[in-house]
Amino acid sequence: MKVLVVGSGGREHALCWAIAASPLCDKLYCAPGNAGIARDAECVAIKADDLDGITRFATDNAIDFVVVGPEQPLCLGLVDRLEAAGVKAFGPTAAAATLEGSKGFMKDLCAKYGIPTAAYGRFTDAESARGFVHERGAPIVVKADGLAAGKGVTIARTVDEALAAIDEAMVEARFGDAGTELVIEEFLAGEEASFFALVDGTTALPLVSAQDHKTAFDGDTGPNTGGMGAYSPAPVMTPALEARVMREIIDPTVRGMAAEGRPFKGVLYAGLMIVDTPEGPSPKLLEYNTRFGDPETQVLMKRMMSDVLPALLASRDGVLKNFQLRWYEDSALCVVMAAKGYPGDYLRRTEIHGLDEAAALPDVSVFHAGTILADDGGILADGGRVLGVTAIAPTVREARTLAYEAVDRIQWPDGFCRRDIGWRAIERK
Ligand code: AMP
Repeated sequence: MKVLVVGSGGREHALCWAIAASPLCDKLYCAPGNAGIARDAECVAIKADDLDGITRFATDNAIDFVVVGPEQPLCLGLVDRLEAAGVKAFGPTAAAATLEGSKGFMKDLCAKYGIPTAAYGRFTDAESARGFVHERGAPIVVKADGLAAGKGVTIARTVDEALAAIDEAMVEARFGDAGTELVIEEFLAGEEASFFALVDGTTALPLVSAQDHKTAFDGDTGPNTGGMGAYSPAPVMTPALEARVMREIIDPTVRGMAAEGRPFKGVLYAGLMIVDTPEGPSPKLLEYNTRFGDPETQVLMKRMMSDVLPALLASRDGVLKNFQLRWYEDSALCVVMAAKGYPGDYLRRTEIHGLDEAAALPDVSVFHAGTILADDGGILADGGRVLGVTAIAPTVREARTLAYEAVDRIQWPDGFCRRDIGWRAIERK
């Protein structure tokens, strides 16, 4: 098969790394890719949200299967466009990607189909949003309805913070169109975890769980980022909880989306809060993403023993029923290395050395997110999050030791990483 992966992050590098190993894959392209991906795939200079460009490339080059990584092209309808042009594509249609593209849509679906989630209201004018906050009090959570690159959520500890968040979104239009509508919801306390399932329109196949670290600095402090590290499995997700997530959250979502005329295909990535209740820990849905996570994909692909490509194809073809996937029992852990200053301003085009030495460690992969090839063949940083140093080992503690051993082989004076990825899982053990 000729396969095209769309995207340029660490998630897409991990997907390319796994797909390139598939005996089914004869030729792998990535659009636009990065310097690390270029070792596993032929990179083509087409942006991920250039729907015309990608569709033209796929038809001109007789691509058999396209795997779309990021949310923007999915919400813009890349899968619809490719399928209409006769190209098989992995991921949801635009109508199904609304589950991620509109938090209000997701909440209404939960309400209609009895899926456990925080109590909420939807607002299109600031006055009624303010009224809701006064009525409910704090803490309370204010969310831009649309895609805001992970920045559209405010956990307001006071009523004033919530009112400021409403003004930011609705009056100052800080998130553009994404914030013209708001979801305001109950604050949930608990431990967060992510759970992933492959879906083919009617059947959901559970993948595995993961946890990530969203804040920039050690001890889960500092500003929020796209994710500074992740590990899988998430020890909080016991087999009993996983079964409940499938039964109470994933399966009703799949049935609900089909009933709404928006059958869902692709990855359902459930952001969960595990809430302590008198009956024991209980999963509630915080959000859906309609694609693989970044950096969670890096740890998922390290743990997947089966060939990933037939699974992605089975999702697209609607034949996941009875499909089996095998996983390593081991733990995988990914440390993200970012440019100093990230998530604020940072320097670009700084030199990175020692990547081959790091990747030479057994059971380590160095996935690239924001890198480019220098004229002299060296690697330059070219983004905020730049590398995902990922290791697999029998325990999360050993995976962490190995990942940091690899990190310490990388010489990049202009980069930084957290030194405590996995602390929650290690403390629990
Ligand atoms: P979301 O993009 O909706 O997942 O929100 C981003 C982050 O905000 C989540 O990963 C949680 O840490 C936090 N969050 C979202 N909704 C809630 C909630 N209802 N209660 C507590 N924390 C929340």
